Amino acid sequence: MPRYEYRCRSCGDTFELSRPMAESSAPAACPAGHEDTVKLLSAVAVTGGSSAAPAPQGGGGGGCCGGGCCA
Ligand SMILES: [Zn+2]
Repeated sequence: MPRYEYRCRSCGDTFELSRPMAESSAPAACPAGHEDTVKLLSAVAVTGGSSAAPAPQGGGGGGCCGGGCCA
């Protein structure tokens, strides 16, 4: 069963749920009980294509620091 990541807009917490794909966009209450949550684009690959995006680890998300202009 795929896992989906959600973020609570009430308390800012992020949490994961394992649920059927058909329910991926269904409302999900956060562990604290808030219902104002949004579904995040999950990094979990369901199809198993793990070699598609060899993202470097430890980066700050790219941008200026990726080019060394602010070193
Ligand atoms: Zn919450």
